[in-house]
Amino acid sequence: MKTTNLFLGGEWTAPAEGGTREILNPATGERLAVVADASAQDAEIAVGHARKAFDEGPWSRTRAQERAALLFKLADRIESRAEDLAKMETQNNGKPLRESKFDVADAAGCFRYYAGLATKPLGQTYDVGDPSITSMVVREPIGVCGQIIPWNFPLLMAAWKLAPGLAAGNCCILKAAESTPLTAISLFELMAEVGFPPGVAQLLLGPGDTVGHALAAHPAVDKVAFTGGTATGRKILQAATGNLKKVTLELGGKSPNIIFDDADFDVALDYALFGIFAGQGEVCSAGSRLLVQKSVAERFVPCLAEAARHIVVGDGMDPDTEMGPLITRAHLDRVMDYVEIGKNEGAELLTGGRKLTEGRFASGNFVSPTLFANTRPDMRIVQEEIFGPVLAIQLFEDEADAVRLANNTVYGLAGGVFTRDVAKGLRVLQRLRAGITWLNTYHPTFNEAPWGGYKQSGTGRELGTYGLDAYLETKQININLNPQRLGWYRNI
Ligand code: NAD
Repeated sequence: MKTTNLFLGGEWTAPAEGGTREILNPATGERLAVVADASAQDAEIAVGHARKAFDEGPWSRTRAQERAALLFKLADRIESRAEDLAKMETQNNGKPLRESKFDVADAAGCFRYYAGLATKPLGQTYDVGDPSITSMVVREPIGVCGQIIPWNFPLLMAAWKLAPGLAAGNCCILKAAESTPLTAISLFELMAEVGFPPGVAQLLLGPGDTVGHALAAHPAVDKVAFTGGTATGRKILQAATGNLKKVTLELGGKSPNIIFDDADFDVALDYALFGIFAGQGEVCSAGSRLLVQKSVAERFVPCLAEAARHIVVGDGMDPDTEMGPLITRAHLDRVMDYVEIGKNEGAELLTGGRKLTEGRFASGNFVSPTLFANTRPDMRIVQEEIFGPVLAIQLFEDEADAVRLANNTVYGLAGGVFTRDVAKGLRVLQRLRAGITWLNTYHPTFNEAPWGGYKQSGTGRELGTYGLDAYLETKQININLNPQRLGWYRNI
């Protein structure tokens, strides 16, 4: 099996210390690839190339039209390889193929969106009250950006980072997650074909606490953009203090999905399932707390449990599969620990909570869709991000109670409301302390709309014009159109 190298300075390069890592299929345990495993030394090399590309140009001084053309071309290449990329994503991450196809299309859309945005007006001019002064604001790239991504949306997260970073004229160093580098490697093969100049976009693979940390701490890196767990986000923020680099963090969540008794029953049921079980619950914005109004709970909750029992779990490559395996054995064990914690805390396990180990499940990391009822707000399964297919159901009396419970965690990433009363729905969304909210839907994500969290779910925003903004510096330029002696000092 050929080892894939790192993409540094425009070349596929063997890691300095020669490390390798086996990449496994979480559905079958089969070895998919052996890839290079970088060390901090490789991060150092990448930063050197990126600095040169940025400081000596021409990337930071290319016209926006040129950057846009490359990004448009990349989007086309991704689409032309969509089928292969989707299969690769499913084999590496485990999610059902229909979800991977969606992610690949979304990744191409993200590159295309920022290609378009690269050439749109940026900056402003001001009337500063002095007729001889023209004052303007221009936007410039920040410089060298370290970009660290998780394993749950490997290609899409790479797109969310690289597309705005490159559109803005930065030099980007992407570090893929340890377990899911395959679509990122393919993406860089496509980027090499498209012709991004050396050092402009580089790929590191390897451990977070060495390679990722090296990027976050490096004094010659100007910005670090991170998506991952809240605990890691804290470490990144600390590592970034040395040179006070710019930091954006997209972190975890424990998002509420609120079902009022006047909601369309079937629609709410569908989205309650989709909210938690899409992507095996390994989704930052998962609706992992279901808040159900007491007046409808007796009817809604048993129907939900019954529906969850019918979700088809299996290998994501099987077209019948509706929920795939968890990413690794270690993560499966972590999720199973939470099931035990929930039971010990006194929550009622309505369905699931079982490791699936028989027959076709024997070599994969499978768990059945899991629902807990009779929870209390202080339980760990209600407060902590499990990042798996485990739903904690909470009951509420009225609108005020729903808002109080919904906001009662340290997170604030997303939230949904289901009701036929749009005014009530809007009132609740306005009171949610969360960055991404939905009324009568759950999970749709748009390249055009800002993505990010309140509270401990992060800082800064990706996507939309906000996402480009996060990769730009802001400079004021003031021009005196009528230079005359100042006359401030009397004796000259
Ligand atoms: P993680 O924090 O363990 O790892 C994420 C990335 O950070 C990986 O590439 C890892 O190698 C790297 N890393 C780990 N330790 C590091 C360190 N000390 N310094 C620098 N880099 C380090 O997260 P994960 O388990 O890969 O992903 C799951 C988490 O990601 C969940 O909490 C989920 O909610 C979050 N997530 C958030 C969003 C969002 O947009 N808010 C999107 C997807 C995932």
